[in-house]
Amino acid sequence: MIIFKQIQTLENHLKTLRKGGKTIGFIPTMGALHKGHVSLFNRSKKECGVTLCSIFVNPTQFNDKADFNRYPINIDRDIEILSEEGCDILFFPSVEEMYPRGFENKSKIDFGFLAQTLEGEHRPGHFNGMAQIVEKLLKIVRPDELFMGQKDYQQQLIVSQLIKKRRLKTELVTCPTTREKDGLAMSSRNVRLDKGSRKLAVEISKTLKKVKLKIENRTPSIKQLQEYGLKRLSGLKEMEVEYFEIRNALTLKPLKSKSEKSVALAAVKIGGVRLIDNWLLN
Ligand code: AMP
Repeated sequence: MIIFKQIQTLENHLKTLRKGGKTIGFIPTMGALHKGHVSLFNRSKKECGVTLCSIFVNPTQFNDKADFNRYPINIDRDIEILSEEGCDILFFPSVEEMYPRGFENKSKIDFGFLAQTLEGEHRPGHFNGMAQIVEKLLKIVRPDELFMGQKDYQQQLIVSQLIKKRRLKTELVTCPTTREKDGLAMSSRNVRLDKGSRKLAVEISKTLKKVKLKIENRTPSIKQLQEYGLKRLSGLKEMEVEYFEIRNALTLKPLKSKSEKSVALAAVKIGGVRLIDNWLLN
C-alpha cells in the first residue's frame, strides 16, 4: 500500500494510474477502522482497478468540540487493517494540507430541507462541513466510484445531491450497514461504550427491526409506529433519544402515505456516546 500525505503527489500518482486505464474506487473515512469500513473496501476491490481510502478527521463537521477531541484515532492499527485488506492507496493528509487557507467555506451548497432535518437539526453545521471535505476529496481523487455506508443514511443522500449539483463524474455506491452479531451497527464510536451502555445499545437496532416487522404485518399507522419506536427507546433508563422518525427514503420528508418508500431513523445518546442507525422499511 502506498501512503500519500500531500495532495500534489497523490494527484500525480492517480494521473499515471488513469492513463494506464485503471478505474478508481474511493472510500473516505475518519479512521478508527472496523468491519463496516472493510465491507466498503471489499466492494471497491470487486468493482474497481484501484482502491483508495482516505483517513481524515475533519474538524469542520464537528459541531461539538468535545466530540472532535474525543474521536478515536489509531493510525498504526488502521494502516495494518488497510494493508491486510489489500487497499492500494491511503491518503492521510494533515489539517493544514486540506485547509491551507482556513476553514471558511465560500461556495456552500444549499441542500435545503435534506440538510436541515434530523442530523442537520441536532448537529447544526455538520453537513456543511461534511460536504465541504467530501467535495475537496472528490476533486482531488476524481474517483469513478465512491463507496459510502447506508449507516449514515442522510449523509449518503446529501453526497448524492452534491455529486449532482457539482456535476461530478463519480458514481455513488451505497453499501449495506455492517452489524455486530447482536445487531448493533458497527461504528468507530462503539469503542467508547462501557459494558452497560454496550448492552443497552442493541435496543436501537432491535427497535428499528420491530418497526419493520410491524409494517410488514400491516397493523398500525405510521404515526403509531413512530410513537411506538420513540416510546420503546425513551423508556430505557440511561438512553437519551434525540429522534426516532419514519420518513420518505429519498427526501426525508414526513410521509404522506404508507405506500411511499420509507426509512426509520434513530439517534440516541448512551453514556455520553451518540449513536445513529436506520432501517429501510419497504
Ligand atoms: P466514518 O469513518 O464513520 O466517517 O465512515 C466512513 C464511511 O464508512 C461512511 O461512508 C460510513 O457510512 C461508512 N460506515 C461506517 N460504519 C459503517 C457500517 N457499520 N457499515 C457500513 N458502512 C459503514
